[in-house]
Amino acid sequence: MSWRAERLTELLGELELDAMLISSGVNVRYLTGFTGSNGLVLIAPGVRLFVTDFRYVERAAAEVDETYERRQTSTELFDAAIDALPPAQLRLGFEDTHVTVSQHERWREKLPQRVELAAAGAPVETLRRTKEPREAQAIRQACRLADEAFERVLAGGMAGRSEREVTLALDRTMQDLGASGPSFETIVAAGPNGAMPHATPGEGLIAPGDLVVIDWGAKLDGYCSDCTRTVAVAQADDAAREIYELVLQAQRIGVDAVRPGAGAQAVDSAARAVIGQAGHAEHFGHGLGHGVGLEVHEAPRLSQRSEDELASGNTVTVEPGVYLPGEFGVRIEDLVLVTDDGCEILTSVPKELLVTD
Ligand code: ZN
Ligand code: ZN
Repeated sequence: MSWRAERLTELLGELELDAMLISSGVNVRYLTGFTGSNGLVLIAPGVRLFVTDFRYVERAAAEVDETYERRQTSTELFDAAIDALPPAQLRLGFEDTHVTVSQHERWREKLPQRVELAAAGAPVETLRRTKEPREAQAIRQACRLADEAFERVLAGGMAGRSEREVTLALDRTMQDLGASGPSFETIVAAGPNGAMPHATPGEGLIAPGDLVVIDWGAKLDGYCSDCTRTVAVAQADDAAREIYELVLQAQRIGVDAVRPGAGAQAVDSAARAVIGQAGHAEHFGHGLGHGVGLEVHEAPRLSQRSEDELASGNTVTVEPGVYLPGEFGVRIEDLVLVTDDGCEILTSVPKELLVTD
């Protein structure tokens, strides 16, 4: 784990910083292994400091990478961190995507004149894009668990159950199989609700003839999975089948475009073109995918606005959809790991249209 701090120390030069504060919980976890809710990290050449409060002293002793000096404080964590700053003129970076305006104001007031507080963007998120083999393995396991939960819940059929019932069954089954919980709020959206990409599962009963969009993921050992399948209940009419085949074709072409060096925008375009050529461009209103790791939505992003480039070790979703307002929606999402020569699909649930009870 200590190489992560080394890489961040190397990045300081590029960022024209002398030291960096890491206050985002997930980034503190990534750097140190600490899973508690109140931790702060200070990184500088020759300085590797972790600060927490008295509630977490034991947990920190058990979890925090031993290359860090550990301190506990009864005041704001920041106070203990500034005490450890080298006694020189310096630029101290902070995570401007996480620090609130009021926190920034308070920190600035506390700092001595010689220390300049500088917005540093999200350097740890950049490191987190490239998964180490053991991180990829953790995500693979989360996918397997989520796939297994889906197969079990689907075996109980869909017709006559409410969206909410299926949602709870999926969440419960993932936990029964060892997940700490779902990695995000599970979506089960039947019939016209499926046309809303982020529908909230309701009490309405799923009926024969419905297409049901199911988007779920497991959290296991801190890592997330993310998958969507659209299933037909009892039967699927020609209109539903046609859209399903279109989305499936776009999804496969998107997956084929995922390889190291590919532009994230180009991958999005490859899948989007298939849907556009069929006249449904305006029915696919979201990006093709996103990175997944300690968080369910992280870098890199696959979209028309993305300037990211894919690299070996990235884990991204490929999830095109077509949403016909008032009628139905279809989305098919796999999680894939970028490898040296293409990608490995981590999702194992079949993608052909499944007609269930
Ligand atoms: Zn999803
Ligand atoms: Zn997703």
